[in-house]
Amino acid sequence: MGFADRARIIIKSGKGGDGHVSFRREKYVPDGGPDGGDGGKGGDVIFVVDEGLNTLTDYRHKRKFAAEPGQEGGKKNCHGKNGQDLILKVPEGTVIKDAETDRVIADMSGDNKRVVVLKGGKGGLGNQNFATSTMQAPKYAQPGQEAIEIEVKLELKVIADVGLVGFPNVGKSTLLSRVTNAQPKIANYHFTTLSPNLGVVDMEEGFGFVIADIPGLIEGAAEGIGLGHEFLRHVERTKVLIHMVDAAGVEGRDPIADIHAINKELEAYNPDLLKKPQVIAANKTDAIYGDENEIIASLRAEFEEKEGIKVYPISAVSGKGLKELLYHVKELLATCPKEVTMFESEFDPSVMAIIDEPYTIEIAEDGAYVVEGPKIDKMLGYTNLESEKGFLFFQRFLKEQGILDALEEKGIEEGDTVRMYGNEFDYYK
Ligand code: GDP
Ligand code: MG
Repeated sequence: MGFADRARIIIKSGKGGDGHVSFRREKYVPDGGPDGGDGGKGGDVIFVVDEGLNTLTDYRHKRKFAAEPGQEGGKKNCHGKNGQDLILKVPEGTVIKDAETDRVIADMSGDNKRVVVLKGGKGGLGNQNFATSTMQAPKYAQPGQEAIEIEVKLELKVIADVGLVGFPNVGKSTLLSRVTNAQPKIANYHFTTLSPNLGVVDMEEGFGFVIADIPGLIEGAAEGIGLGHEFLRHVERTKVLIHMVDAAGVEGRDPIADIHAINKELEAYNPDLLKKPQVIAANKTDAIYGDENEIIASLRAEFEEKEGIKVYPISAVSGKGLKELLYHVKELLATCPKEVTMFESEFDPSVMAIIDEPYTIEIAEDGAYVVEGPKIDKMLGYTNLESEKGFLFFQRFLKEQGILDALEEKGIEEGDTVRMYGNEFDYYK
């Protein structure tokens, strides 16, 4: 069991090399044709699993990692050199997240041994590509695609096998510290409100499992109140659930109602969660005032008999009953499939980079659709709209940027006018 580890770095893809503008110069030929070459592709940022690594310490010392930009195209149709990819080696089980949104970009586990996280910019086309019968000396070339720079979090994944759920103050933290203190192998997670407390339980013959204390699970969690969802996501990844209740009713809670309430939360979030094997830890039996057997019997009648969920009377403080509980958890784990839990990708920075580029669409008084934005401005500066190729190229750009779709959404119709920095077009599909 590796120790939890994390790092935060900035990664940057290579910008695409710009296309080149040049013309052949030959003896006795006054106006040679265009011969500007294409720019080279920028390097990708690629994460690769290195089996020999088991920490992320390499990423604690350096913060910025950039792939090489593509070179500009040259004269005589010379293609610019492609930028070199940047390979970042990480241990298996590293989860790469967008630092800003905390969304998963890639989970370097299972078959994910090599993932291109940032694509390098495409090289721009040189001016030779834009020659047509009417425009034989195009003075424009396409710029290379911009680099993408983002901050990412790297987290070495420790998946909890067992989720410990229950209302506040039932004794979850006490149990966790007790059963994981036996061996000083507590995964040293920095406690933040968003990460569950994890602990490794070592049992005999090298068998161990990870327990997560999932403190955010309270009524209303499934509706996204407070931090609920974040924690329910952790529950989703566990295999077995321990329901902890205060059997002594120290705080006047009703343990049976509490378990039903929590299961209702779990079901509301994802009905599959109720398919996970469960066990009930009836805690604080040392503090039961009346008849312990009566309380345990009523829990058993409700859950063991009706639903087959075993009830274990314990005391997290004295240690009573913990062995039996953990042994049963071990048995339940043995019934669970062994497959690795993979975090699904939720975020593609290469796509986001395009969407993020701002532009505005406004409808002018004369009914024209006015489209403006820095990238459009730049693109127009480079493009000769008089040439057929240049125009087609610009159209493709509008499509790829989602601007055509956005115009449709605004209600544009065939024949309407689109205006961009002094250029006017009729809109046709
Ligand atoms: P959590 O909010 O579920 O993590 O609960 P804690 O572990 O923080 O415990 C809440 C309170 O209950 C603390 O004062 C603990 O000392 C107490 N407590 C926990 N387990 C037991 C137990 O087995 N017996 C008794 N008498 N008190 C307990
Ligand atoms: Mg706690």
